[in-house]
Order: sequence, then C-alpha cells, then structure tokens
Amino acid sequence: MSRVLVIGGGASGMIAAIFAARNGNEVTLYEKNEKLGKKIFITGKGRCNLTNACDKETFFENIIINERFLYSAFSNFSNRDAIDFFNEIGLDTKIERGNRVFPVSDHSSDVIRVLEQEMKKQNITVRLHSRVTKILCEEGVFKGIQLENGQKAEADNCIVATGGLSYASTGSTGDGYEFAKEVGHTVTELYPSLVSIRLQEEYVSELEGLSLKNVEVSITGEKQGRKGGTEADYEWFREFGEMLFTRNGVSGPLILSASSRIASEKCSGFTLHINLKPALSSEQLDARILRDFEKYKNKQFRNALGDLLPSRLSDRIVVLSGIDPYKQVNQITQEERMALGSLLQNMSFTILKMGGYNEAVITRGGISVKEITPSTMESKLVTGLYFTGEVLDLDAMTGGYNLQIAWSTGYAAGSSIY
Ligand SMILES: Cc1cc2nc3c(=O)[nH]c(=O)nc-3n(C[C@H](O)[C@H](O)[C@H](O)COP(=O)(O)OP(=O)(O)OC[C@H]3O[C@@H](n4cnc5c(N)ncnc54)[C@H](O)[C@@H]3O)c2cc1C
Repeated sequence: MSRVLVIGGGASGMIAAIFAARNGNEVTLYEKNEKLGKKIFITGKGRCNLTNACDKETFFENIIINERFLYSAFSNFSNRDAIDFFNEIGLDTKIERGNRVFPVSDHSSDVIRVLEQEMKKQNITVRLHSRVTKILCEEGVFKGIQLENGQKAEADNCIVATGGLSYASTGSTGDGYEFAKEVGHTVTELYPSLVSIRLQEEYVSELEGLSLKNVEVSITGEKQGRKGGTEADYEWFREFGEMLFTRNGVSGPLILSASSRIASEKCSGFTLHINLKPALSSEQLDARILRDFEKYKNKQFRNALGDLLPSRLSDRIVVLSGIDPYKQVNQITQEERMALGSLLQNMSFTILKMGGYNEAVITRGGISVKEITPSTMESKLVTGLYFTGEVLDLDAMTGGYNLQIAWSTGYAAGSSIY
C-alpha cells in the first residue's frame, strides 16, 4: 500500500483516484474548485458524451496527436471497459448516432455523481478549495506537494490530472504544465483546438446563426515541405457534414474537426471553401439551376434562388455572384449561370485566426509523451510522479474520444500504483 495524491478532480483525476484506491492505496484528491467535475458538467452540451463505442481501428483514426503512445493504456482500459465501468458503478448508458455514448438520463451530472459515489465507497479523501502550487521532489523522486495556503503533504506517489487551458472557468488554468516544467519536463507548444474559426469577410455577421447541413468544407493553404520547399495550395481538410455561421466566422461539428487539422499551423490567410451542393456534379447543378431559372424566368434574379438556398444565404450569394440582382432571370447569360454554379460549389473565405481558449473544446500540445511511460503514465524523470488526461500532449476529435483519453490514462496511472 502506498500513499497517493491526485491533483485535479476532473475526469482523469477521479478515475485515477478510484483505481489507485481499488488497489488498496490511501488516496487523497486535491481539487481547487468548490466541487468536482466542473468540466464534465459542460461536456456534450450538458449530456456528457463520455466515450465512443466504435471499433479499435476507428478509435485510433480519431486520435490526432500521439495515438501510438495511447495504444497500451487503451488496450488496458478501452472504450468498452469504460462503458462497463460506468454501468458497474451505477450509470446506465446509451449509444447514439456516430457511436457516441451518453448517460441514459442525458445528464452529465449523473456521470459526476456516480464517480463521486464510487470515490466515497473507496474511502478516497477529497479536499476541495485546495489548489496545489508546487510539486516537491528530491533527486528525481517525488516527495510531496505544497498547497496555495502553504500547507505541505507528503506521499509516495502523485498523479497530476490538472487538464489543459480551455474553459479556464472550469478550473483548467494550465497549472500542470508549470509543475511539469519545474521538474524538468518538456511542454510542447500549446494551442486552442476543436474551436471555431474566425474569418476575414465582415459579411459573415449577416449570416450569424445560419446552420448548413450536408455541405462540404475544405481548407487549403501553404504547407512547408520537409526539405524546405512549400506547397502553395495544400489541402489540409475536406469533409462533409454540418456547420454554422457565427458573428465573426464559422463553427459547428465540421468546423471543429477542421480546426483540429490546422490548430498548430500558421493558418492566417488559409482559404476555407464551402461546397453548398456537394452531392451534385457541376453539370447536374447547372441542370438544377436551369430548372429553377425556367420556373422563375419572369422574376428578378434576386428572387430566383429560393428553392436552392436558405433565404439569408441566397441574398449574399446574389451579391457575390456579381449578377445584377434586378436582372430578369431569362436575361441571365450562360456564362453568368456557370459562374453562379461555381460559386455555389466553392464559396470561399479567408481564415483570420482560430478562436481562443475560452471557446476551445481542448488544448493541443502538452507534456511531451516521450518523457512518460505509456503503460503507467509515470514520469521517466521523476519516480512516483504521474501525468494523465489533457495535460499530456495527446488529443482527439470530438465524439467522446477526449474523455476516453482521460479515462484510459487515468486508469493506467491509478491501477499501476501498489
Ligand atoms: C465545452 C466542452 C465540451 C466538451 N465535450 C466533450 C464531450 O462531450 N466528450 C469528450 O470526450 N470530451 C469533451 N470535452 C473535452 C473533455 O472535457 C476534456 O478532454 C476532459 O475533461 C479532460 O479531462 P482532465 O481530467 O484531463 O481535465 P479536466 O476535466 O479539465 O480536469 C482538471 C481538474 O483539475 C483541477 N485543477 C487544475 N489545476 C489544479 C491545481 N493546481 N490544484 C488542484 N486542482 C487543480 C481543475 O479545477 C479541474 O477540475 C469537452 C470540453 C469542453 C470545454
């Protein structure tokens, strides 16, 4: 039996504490907030998409950074194991579209509740309002921690599960990165990821709130080659799905995925393309436009796109097409019609920048996994010190994968301590 301190009462810290305690260790968890799991509470729009029930291959396709590092932890505590674990501790789960797993109740608070209950059952001591400010080590061995109020606590092992930098109001203010640096770890560059994208075109504000389904978004921009050369119009992303216009840019599922592909790039000046009619070839689209133009031949152009597009978007497309909005439809030339078709299949915008940490789902970057043992999450530099969850340089797409990273790495650390 050893004494284990866990820093952070989020997803990863709570599961790490539970499995450390199930091994018979004496566990104390420190959380700086007044309650546990503040970030879990806001996940999945309050419903907590706690994992993804996909197969292993698909799972790893959705891990964007350092998926190999996760192999061992995932094989010891997979998405299936996470579902079984939650069912066992009293949470009924259901699987929705895209294999996303949610509590049957649709309440993230139930996820927190069952974790808290299990922690109580395992006699874990929870210290709320307790911000850890320092990790104490001697000659490469963990010794203890220091709290903001100056108190110290000694122990044999410590699991740092302090999260990233996004949504700081939930408690993730990057403290774990500082702890890691102070004891000699490398922290890779940090960026907001799974986040909205700001666009240069001011007119997007007119489209705020407009959601588009069944569109294809792609992003192109310069890519530096390994040998120093550059590829001017490299395609960073292309996918089909749903997106949304915001006050100053774009968001929604497709955009969050896209942001993950360019989060660590200098993406200012990249082009975001929206294909509004991706299911049609250019010929099919032209035939479709012709049909509408036949129907509305005696109307003005500005009133002819209603069958093709939502009205707020059609007003903007009319402006962008360069065709006189008052022109009678039967006066529109073939050239103008073809240009309209191209516009509908390639509405392009200039990317200004990514949204900030205040709206990012996760932080890209973190403690270098080269310095961490993959099967246990123990530091290779400090014996008895472990890092789990978002504080590590590991990240994934939306769909429950990021919480699974927190569960798998938390389990790896907790269950490896005796
Ligand atoms: C809006 C939003 C929605 C999301 N939805 C989903 C989703 O549906 N599915 C999914 O898989 N992922 C989702 N995520 C991502 C997911 O929430 C995170 O990846 C996950 O919570 C990371 O877990 P963690 O335990 O590493 O960190 P956190 O959950 O951030 O927990 C860290 C904890 O450590 C505490 N702490 C920090 N520093 C100290 C300190 N010095 N002393 C004491 N305590 C400290 C913090 O207060 C916090 O409670 C979402 C994220 C956001 C922001």
